[in-house]
Amino acid sequence: MEDKKCFNCKTPESEIPVVNMRYKNKELWVCPRCIPSMIHEPQLVEQSLAEAEQA
Ligand SMILES: [Zn+2]
Repeated sequence: MEDKKCFNCKTPESEIPVVNMRYKNKELWVCPRCIPSMIHEPQLVEQSLAEAEQA
């Protein structure tokens, strides 16, 4: 099975728990460390998603 990674900090679920979220019809995984930044700076999510799509 594929190792899920936090979309923001790229930490794999083997190192930290990640939770599944949906955003704009996309599925993403995020770790608890990055949830606060999602709450306070949602534009970062847009940026990270755009970068993740290019990778
Ligand atoms: Zn993270």
